[in-house]
Amino acid sequence: PLIDLRGKKALVTGIANNRSIAWGIAQQLHAAGAEIGVAFLPMNDKVEAKVRTLTTPLEPSLFVPCDVTKPEEITGLADSIRDQWGGIDIFVHCLAFADRSDLEGNFSATKKAGFEKALDISAYSLIEMTGALRPLFNEGASVVTMSYIGSSRVVPNYNVMGVAKAALEASVRYLASELGPDGVRVNAVSAGPIRTLASSAIGGIQTMIKHVESSAPLRRTVTQIEVGNAASFLLSSAGSGITGQVLYVDGGYEIMGTPADMQ
Ligand code: NAD
Repeated sequence: PLIDLRGKKALVTGIANNRSIAWGIAQQLHAAGAEIGVAFLPMNDKVEAKVRTLTTPLEPSLFVPCDVTKPEEITGLADSIRDQWGGIDIFVHCLAFADRSDLEGNFSATKKAGFEKALDISAYSLIEMTGALRPLFNEGASVVTMSYIGSSRVVPNYNVMGVAKAALEASVRYLASELGPDGVRVNAVSAGPIRTLASSAIGGIQTMIKHVESSAPLRRTVTQIEVGNAASFLLSSAGSGITGQVLYVDGGYEIMGTPADMQ
């Protein structure tokens, strides 16, 4: 197979439930033969049990709590990987957060605390986690994070998260430049809108999905599995020449000047 991840150790962050994009990615990495590790946000026992039950079929060999706002949990995660895996081949950063109040209304009303929280969790965490994992990257290791077109175009209500995604995509380029000489690649996948827990916090997300369904070249939005397939490609040796890029997996929506539903 073109995408063969047998023998690769893959850490996946951001699985909250069966709608999570991270769940689509984890399933496709597992299907390609990767050994899966799960890092989850520890909220309560119920959430942990849910993520554990969901991921059990993938037989994760690592299951570690990690709230990215807590530096000691990031170093703890890196310690677990060093102790239990010895090294890592694949790091999937698939998490973001902004307060609901910052995902609607006037962008100019964004408060400093909300800005800092969104940028910290959604962008800085990629830098801090990649830094912590850096000494553990095996030969040919690869990192993928998740972005959205709101990074470079104005999308209604996306507001502070658009700024966070711009910072995330710029971070991808700086990390790619730094780690490239070691043979480590860093890329982003920019997905079309998908109904998930996180996206339900964005005002009018359903309207946005409808708009993409009528205006993208493929006349539909994408699935978590399609995002997982693209991420698997970038993370595999099939993507060995690609680093620092943002790959749109959005049914072609990004290329449109005048959307198809206006033509
Ligand atoms: P989701 O709610 O399933 O996943 C978000 C994850 O972030 C959750 O697992 C949550 O536990 C985690 N998280 C939040 N705060 C955290 C913290 N402090 N520490 C550790 N983890 C934390 O939603 P999703 O849509 O699958 O989001 C995954 C990624 O995909 C995000 O980066 C999101 O911006 C991006 N994305 C989503 C869409 C979409 O339409 N759903 C489109 C493009 C990009």
